[in-house]
Amino acid sequence: MSAPPQTRRSPAGKAGLQDRTGSNTSRNITTIGTPSQLLLPRLEGVIKTGKGWRARCPSHGGKSASLAITEGDNGTLLLHCFAGCPVHDVLGAVGLQMGDLFQRQHYRNMNPAERSQLRQAALIPRWRAALDVLRHEATVLLIAASKMGDGDLLDDAELTRMRVAALKIFDCGEVLNAR
Ligand SMILES: [Zn+2]
Repeated sequence: MSAPPQTRRSPAGKAGLQDRTGSNTSRNITTIGTPSQLLLPRLEGVIKTGKGWRARCPSHGGKSASLAITEGDNGTLLLHCFAGCPVHDVLGAVGLQMGDLFQRQHYRNMNPAERSQLRQAALIPRWRAALDVLRHEATVLLIAASKMGDGDLLDDAELTRMRVAALKIFDCGEVLNAR
């Protein structure tokens, strides 16, 4: 028998709880379980660290705790093998998939305000992109206005570009109105 001396089943779930500062997340942990509760019991040599855990990498083996596990917002796990194993391989070695790193039940457990907040947050990158487009198109229009102000006529290409600017601005309106 060559059973490893370290505990297979780590107390990580509880340790994770103690680490949390959020008030509503603990409710989710006790009711539905987190990705860390799914992953950690499948790993060997789990050690609690400041931001998460270290464990032996199930993909490449080895004795050192080369797998770093960090718990992010909503219990989402970030994995990093210092020997360079892809996350996909690390998960595959313990029968898990990428989706298991995320708290899939979380959304279902949210109240309407929390759901709305999440949807709004997902829109922010699109809003930023739309604002960048608006800024650029405003510059195009400003240049055209300056040219007309100087008494120059716009040629066909410039007129077309102004129409394109208008279309882009309408598109931005769609993006910024999205909910
Ligand atoms: Zn590895």
